[in-house]
Amino acid sequence: MSSRFQAPGSSPQVEPTIRVTEIFRSIQGESTRAGFPCAFIRLTGCSLRCVWCDTAYAFSGGEEMTVSEAAERVIALGTDLVEVTGGEPLEQEGVYPLMDRLLERGKTVLLETGGHVPLDRIDPRVVKIVDVKAPGSGMMGANLPENLDSLSGRDEVKFVLADRRDFDWALDFVRERDLDDRHVVTFSPVWEKLSAADLAGWIRDSGRPIRLGVQLHKLLWGDVPGR
Ligand code: SF4
Repeated sequence: MSSRFQAPGSSPQVEPTIRVTEIFRSIQGESTRAGFPCAFIRLTGCSLRCVWCDTAYAFSGGEEMTVSEAAERVIALGTDLVEVTGGEPLEQEGVYPLMDRLLERGKTVLLETGGHVPLDRIDPRVVKIVDVKAPGSGMMGANLPENLDSLSGRDEVKFVLADRRDFDWALDFVRERDLDDRHVVTFSPVWEKLSAADLAGWIRDSGRPIRLGVQLHKLLWGDVPGR
């Protein structure tokens, strides 16, 4: 999507637009930056349907705005750290100029992606947090394992796990690729489905340097939009 504008004396240009569900300031809850103030921009739409998805409200609706307006609204929140999330942010073309603008303004940009869209167009300065979908998500077939080969050492890999079967599958996946040698690998429990304490014990006993993710924002405020 785009909108047209014309400065006096110039030819028409196309201003890219983007559909946005919410823009808000909160505490980073999930990555290795968990605990830091962070501005979030949640883009609308996702072609997957993970069984346990906690952002189904971002599948549709939202507000169409220009990329510059979206970037200025994020920047106005005044944090050094910003996260572009969804929905699936990489399903909108406008996400690329959006990330560029945030980088140009000196922001540390985190991108949360479901892992089913190629990552080859993303500026290397963006820190990618890439999901690998476990069987309990119902979306395992959407994984693009080749995406993991293109990650830098700053990028992170996340598995959201619903039960012990998911854990065993994810551990095998990590071991086969030595993923935890090259990246921070986080295992997070599905909210109110798998006990964080159980998952912590399994990680401890695995002997692998895997990080437990606990969705800090939900522990603080519960499972509500905009926090
Ligand atoms: S990829 Fe993310 S937004 Fe899309 S259905 Fe799965 S959890 Fe929800």
